[in-house]
Formats: sequence, C-alpha cells, structure tokens
Amino acid sequence: MTARVLDGAAVAAGLRARVAARVTELAAQGVSPRLEVILVGEDPASRVYVGSKAKACQEVGVRSATQALPGATSGDELAARIAALNADPDVDGILLQLPLPAPLEARRFLDLVDPAKDVDGFHPLNVGLLQQGRPRFVPCTPAGVMELLDASGVKLAGAHAVVVGRSDIVGKPMAALLLQRHATVTVCHSRTRDLAAICRQADVLVAAVGKPALVSGDCVKPGAVVIDVGVNRVEDPALVERLFPGDQARAAQLARRGYTLVGDVDFTAAAAVAAAITPVPGGIGPLTIAGLLLNTVRAACRRRCLPC
Ligand code: NDP
Repeated sequence: MTARVLDGAAVAAGLRARVAARVTELAAQGVSPRLEVILVGEDPASRVYVGSKAKACQEVGVRSATQALPGATSGDELAARIAALNADPDVDGILLQLPLPAPLEARRFLDLVDPAKDVDGFHPLNVGLLQQGRPRFVPCTPAGVMELLDASGVKLAGAHAVVVGRSDIVGKPMAALLLQRHATVTVCHSRTRDLAAICRQADVLVAAVGKPALVSGDCVKPGAVVIDVGVNRVEDPALVERLFPGDQARAAQLARRGYTLVGDVDFTAAAAVAAAITPVPGGIGPLTIAGLLLNTVRAACRRRCLPC
C-alpha cells in the first residue's frame, strides 16, 4: 500500500472537542442544546445509528432523546409528532431517522421539519441555501467529508472532483460543497457511461453509492485522494478474502459477527494507486455524527441569535 490512510476518527474527535467546548460556554449562558430523534419502525441498522448518535450527544453534553414510533405509525401521526417538536421552544434540533418504513415517504415528512431545527439539512430551504453558496445547515456526511479534506490539507481549488452517487443525502450536497470550494465537479450515477474512465480523471474521488467495492483500482488516478462514504455489510467470505487478501483481523471479525463492513471502494487496490484514502470503518462514519453535533449546537445558537 502506498496511500496515506486518512483518519476520520481522529478528525471527528477534534470536532467533538470543539462542540463540547462550545456546549460548556453555552451552559454558562443558561443554554443547553437539545436534539430530538424520531425513529419509526424496527430497522436494526437505524437502531444502531440512533444509539450511536445518542451516545455522541451525551459525551459532548448535548441533551438528546429518541421518540421510537411503531412501524405501523400513520402519516398523520408522524406529521403531528413533527409539528409538536417544531412548536416546542425547548427543542433545537429535529432528526427524522431514515429510511422510513413503507408506505411513509421521507420527502413528505422532511419537508415538515422546521427549517430552523433541520439539523440534517434536508429541508428544501436549507438545500436551496446550500446551492446558493450560503449554507445554514449542511447535511452531516458531506460536511464531514469537507472537514476531513481540509484537515488533511487537500487542495480543492482547480482540482477535478468526481462524486459517484447523486442522492439528496450525500452526492448532491457533496457536489455543491466541492463546487463552492472551486473544484471542477463531475457527478456520476447509475446511468453514467464508462464510470472508470471518468473516475480516473479525478484528483479527488468521492464514492457514495452503496455497492461494495464498486470503485475498483482501475477507477483511481495515481496520486488521487479517495473518499469512501459507502457502508456495506458483506457476509461472503470469498468476497472478503478477495477485497482484503490475508487480512486476518477482517476474517476473524467476519467469523465472529457474520459480516464485515466494506466501503464502495476496493480499498486494497485503490490504496496501491492513490495518494490518500479513507478506510471503512473509521473514515467518514465518525465525521457524520460529529457533523450532527455541530449542527445541533449551531441550531441552538441561531435560534437565540448567539454566535455559532
Ligand atoms: P442512495 O442509494 O440514495 O444513492 C446511491 C447513488 O449511487 C445513486 O445516485 C445511484 O444512482 C448511484 N449508483 C448506484 N449504482 C451505481 C453504479 N453502478 N454506478 C454509479 N452510480 C451508481 O445512497 P446514499 O447516498 O444514501 O448512500 C450511499 C452510501 O453511503 C451507502 O453505502 C450508505 O450506507 C453510505 N452512507 C454512509 C454514511 C456515513 O456516515 N458514512 C452516511 C450516509 C450514507 P441513481 O441516482 O442513478 O440511482
């Protein structure tokens, strides 16, 4: 391996320390930021994510609570729950954990969240502000990627950045943030022709697809910076051995848990070519949670006209 491994966990720890310091300052002014998470249904991965968010809040002194609703919750019930949190002056941030169980459609309910409490940055008002280059709440994952790129000294102005994936949660806001920093941005998706050829042009390559190791070593330009947002559960020992040949720790984890987490990039192959690369896990995941804490404290400050 030649690439430098970018330590997202370390950068996230720095961000969390910044948040904790601000929370202490706010406490002296009688302000205690509060996040409310709405979790609908029993999705096991969502439960794990919500648990991690609650723990992270506790560690930095942000008050948080989870409203767990049954999977059979009606649209009207969910809308009423969001309206109650919007109206509660003691609530600073509202997070609707995705995905929602069918037939609830995420877009309808994200649109109902008060934009001033929209700590995920998914409300159309906040999306529009980001597109105009005057962001208020930036979606946590792309915000975390930018923190990592900056902390790692990656030059963006004039660089060609290729983003694979165009979701509202990651790909689109990622592209907007890179464009604001004067990168030349190409966005790829499932209909993109010759993905590898486009990716090979990237000085900065961001993968947010949800397909294990879709981005192969052939997709990486020598010297590129590779950011792997993907988190995929892989249970197939043959695939794990192909992606991480001879990695005893991975093999042991797979045997113990029945799965291992793999990114959208073939880490071993890409790391042989890239200048820098994020691992999965330990890359972007911790930064996403740190971004949520940051946004919650920002919401608390903005609502009281305090500096963020
Ligand atoms: P979505 O499923 O919403 O979007 C996936 C995107 O990938 C779509 O734009 C899709 O294209 C594109 N895509 C699918 N197949 C291909 C292909 N063969 N070639 C090129 N593009 C393709 O996923 P998310 O954006 O929500 O998440 C992406 C990944 O990031 C997932 O693994 C998710 O778990 C992870 N994630 C990690 C986070 C973290 O904290 N680390 C936070 C959020 C997500 P099209 O639009 O044409 O369908």
